[in-house]
Amino acid sequence: MATEKKNGKKAPADKVQLWKREPGWDKLREGEEAILDGYCADYIDFLSTTKTERRVHAQLVELAKKRGFLDLDEVNKQGKKLKPGDAVYRAIDGKTVLIARIGKAPLAEGLNLVGGHADCPRLDLKPYPLYQDEELVLLDTHYYGGIKHYQWTTIPLALYGVIIRRDGKKLDIAIGDNPGDPVFCITDILPHLDVDQSKKTMREGIAAEKLNVVFGSRPVDKKNDDKEVSQKAKLNILRLLKATYGIEEEDFASAELEVVPAGNARDLGFDRSMVLGYGQDDRVCSYAAARAVLDYNDIPEKTIGALVVDKEEIGSYGRTGMDSTFLPNCIAELVAACDKNYSDLTVRRALEHTKMLSADVGTCADPDYKGVNSDGNMGRLNCGLQVNKYDGGGGKGGASDASAEFMAEIRKVFNDNGVVWQACELGKPGVGGGGTIAMYMARLGIQVVDCGVGLMCMHAPWEIAGKIDIYMAYKGYMAFLVNA
Ligand code: MN
Ligand code: MN
Repeated sequence: MATEKKNGKKAPADKVQLWKREPGWDKLREGEEAILDGYCADYIDFLSTTKTERRVHAQLVELAKKRGFLDLDEVNKQGKKLKPGDAVYRAIDGKTVLIARIGKAPLAEGLNLVGGHADCPRLDLKPYPLYQDEELVLLDTHYYGGIKHYQWTTIPLALYGVIIRRDGKKLDIAIGDNPGDPVFCITDILPHLDVDQSKKTMREGIAAEKLNVVFGSRPVDKKNDDKEVSQKAKLNILRLLKATYGIEEEDFASAELEVVPAGNARDLGFDRSMVLGYGQDDRVCSYAAARAVLDYNDIPEKTIGALVVDKEEIGSYGRTGMDSTFLPNCIAELVAACDKNYSDLTVRRALEHTKMLSADVGTCADPDYKGVNSDGNMGRLNCGLQVNKYDGGGGKGGASDASAEFMAEIRKVFNDNGVVWQACELGKPGVGGGGTIAMYMARLGIQVVDCGVGLMCMHAPWEIAGKIDIYMAYKGYMAFLVNA
């Protein structure tokens, strides 16, 4: 946090001040703690009901429609023109969305965007997921994103996703989070028999191929017996699936089914200063970005937008990932809807003049794992929104590395608007690294810097975030969108 004068009193000219990283509670303005609590309660609800990228997407589009945002593709189809203050969204494949409000300035002067991702580390079902071994029916999975295998065993799990049946009907599956639902589970060996397992590394002790989800065990009724005696419980599951959803085994080939932790996000700590929840990477940032654009009711100077994309955890490839044509196409559609005459040059100018926060999570110092800290530069819980000039690994490898000039702009916007923030890097150089969608924005000519909430236990089934940081993401993104 930069030096701030208290009570308007000026420090003497010769007095130097330390740039301290400290908890943000004392820096909240009068009445702001109640706003923080209200925002965090909304956020906890959001985390609990949107456990997959499809659900995040559906909820954001629904919120946008409710608040009068128009479908940009429909606007252009009908040949309507947009004016400053109009609000639109553009969605693709039920997974990736841009929510925007048109500003007073021409698009060629650039947009102010905040972009995060809605996909989270999880276990995806394989095309042939169902099998029986011993007395159990199991679901074979392929992990999605960077997970520590052992963390996913012996916890209640839910199953979400879609199945497209042979007849073309699309089914929305959600099992494990509604009262009365069954849950699922991955086994681990008992300590009494773990002599061999305990000698292995943490990664090998529970191998990725062992992340099989217990799905059933009740054999088919004797009266309905048939010859495949070894598969009786699996046959029973198939019968149940057919009776419940009208699906057959081959329908798993045209399905996206995701295994995620079951249960709601919660307040963490006796003082309720933190949130424990699944998939805060990166719904803590993408929710803040979307809420900021949805909540802004005035006519902004520049066009503002929140971009919530898919596939970040597996490299941002695919047509719903950031490394796709989605954003440039959105800008082209906006130019078509706002300008009298469409011009490719306007699209290119708009991209090159766009400023963006790559809204993805960082990390916070963990008292039990100090060895990985970049000591003076480590993020600290509840010390504010993190700005990471660079990420990457192995000598900033893969980082888009924002300019000092852009950092100066961000810093000024945050300081001028009472945003509690901290400058950080991911961890000690050489111990690992990570990337975000920043480099894919930079490739389009966009000015971009990483800016998000620091988590503890990132990518674990239950991640920790501090409420100051959660709220400051919303406040900081709003300040950037409106003032950058
Ligand atoms: Mn992320
Ligand atoms: Mn991640």
